[in-house]
Amino acid sequence: MINLHTHTKFCDGKNTAEEMVLAAIEKGFDVLGFSAHSLHPLDPMFYSAFDEIWSMHKADFPFYVNEINRLKEKYSSKIKILLGFEADYFKAEKIGLAMPCKKAYEEFKPDFLIGSVHFINKPDGFYTVDHTAENVEQNLIKLYTNPKTGKIDGKTAVCDYFQAEREMLAGGDFDIWGHPDLIRKRNGVLKFFDESESWYKEQLVETAKAAAKAGVIAEINTGAIFRKAMDDVYPSAAFLELLHEHKVPVCINSDAHSPDALDCAYDRARAAAKKAGYKELVYPGNYIEKL
Ligand SMILES: [Zn+2]
Ligand SMILES: [Zn+2]
Repeated sequence: MINLHTHTKFCDGKNTAEEMVLAAIEKGFDVLGFSAHSLHPLDPMFYSAFDEIWSMHKADFPFYVNEINRLKEKYSSKIKILLGFEADYFKAEKIGLAMPCKKAYEEFKPDFLIGSVHFINKPDGFYTVDHTAENVEQNLIKLYTNPKTGKIDGKTAVCDYFQAEREMLAGGDFDIWGHPDLIRKRNGVLKFFDESESWYKEQLVETAKAAAKAGVIAEINTGAIFRKAMDDVYPSAAFLELLHEHKVPVCINSDAHSPDALDCAYDRARAAAKKAGYKELVYPGNYIEKL
């Protein structure tokens, strides 16, 4: 069993990296990867006024790298540990650009990179689709209210989200594509779009094509199930089918922020992969697991 998407106290996780390693050994994992939230080369302080900071601070990068490399050695006979980052795509004129790119992360010698979109930038500001339903709603009202109807223009919000995903896929150079349809996270409560509409399907098709072209591994992410944000994995069944059709390989990660989340809903993620037609899971470094 493999999990390459985990967070520790170096970012917004609850536990130390060593506690995560011990739990992963206990649960029988063969490979454990660490993926601290990173906005490198941007300093996450730029969003301090807007929200609590969940990305790793610039000063902590060397400590993180040293600690994961120490654990790699210490537990080498029991588990394979990989050093990674969950690298954000962030682009705003006034703040700068963070692109999940191996070249940009070279100095840290990571084993893998996860590329993720959490932030959406608009000329009037930015917001994160990964926040509480209340916060996402406030920001949708602020940034996406149609002046004619006075209602949230959910379609534009969703298209902006997938546009950002495609920009990251086209411009980045990373191994794993994190939670490919994170925009669904709060839709169960907010209902600002309908996944059955044809324009939504078109967004999925375009984005699946971009993923195929980028040569990334799409992640089946069970994090929303553990956190009870949504009773489903990312990506949706329909999106997974399209990814399979476009020959995009998949892996399963739990996006664990605590040890008890390490193996959350792997059975459901496996079933989702099989239902979409997948026969195997692929992880960076050519780790393959048959389904
Ligand atoms: Zn994430
Ligand atoms: Zn994560």
